[in-house]
Amino acid sequence: MTSKPFTTLPLPAALQQNLDALGYRRMTPVQEQSLPALLEGKDAIVRAQTGSGKTLAFGIGTIMKLAENESDVQGLILCPTRELAEQVAGELRRLSRHRPNIKILTLCGGVPLAPQRDSLQYGAHIVVGTPGRVLDHLGKKTLSLSKVHTLVLDEADRMLDLGFHDAIMKIASHLTSSRQSLLFSATFPETIAAIAAALLRDPVTVEVENSA
Ligand code: ADP
Ligand code: MG
Repeated sequence: MTSKPFTTLPLPAALQQNLDALGYRRMTPVQEQSLPALLEGKDAIVRAQTGSGKTLAFGIGTIMKLAENESDVQGLILCPTRELAEQVAGELRRLSRHRPNIKILTLCGGVPLAPQRDSLQYGAHIVVGTPGRVLDHLGKKTLSLSKVHTLVLDEADRMLDLGFHDAIMKIASHLTSSRQSLLFSATFPETIAAIAAALLRDPVTVEVENSA
């Protein structure tokens, strides 16, 4: 099976050009199977191994819905570690190069809160962070998530392994129920099924086998 090109998706020309410039021409299987539903605004559970291109799938989904003339946080991406959050933020910055006003901020632990608080005051469209630090900012009211329309749980299995279940649930209680929620995971244990049932609404499920 040859994979479809990104040009088969209903994306703006500027984004198509940027994808092309970044060397992304054909979708990986996980992108091809998830992006149509993501772009329709559906909730999704996506299970696929590391390296299958999950970041681009939720990245395009999140960026497509951003209004850059609003300074509120509109996309929230939760990752298990600082390294992953930095990696995801870097990829989202590349994906949104055609819209240079989009601000993407990482909020991870292990560094002082104050500089993050100051950055938040200038506004951010997308926050990529670890659950503990995002929850810290919510507790201090230095972060508002009331305008978030896309929630992404990236590497959800690792986040649960690291004990972030309660933090994720508390963060989700700050979001509107009309949001789109996307859960990405390499494995699908019972605990993932449970958190998906709690946080996603009528999700589509995409599973890509390891040979992909
Ligand atoms: P995952 O999150 O599933 O582990 P990533 O999103 O980190 O995977 O992507 C893995 C690598 O594949 C990255 O280097 C990314 O740039 C590359 N990649 C993703 N999608 C495509 C594509 N459609 N065409 C070519 N390379 C891609
Ligand atoms: Mg990933």
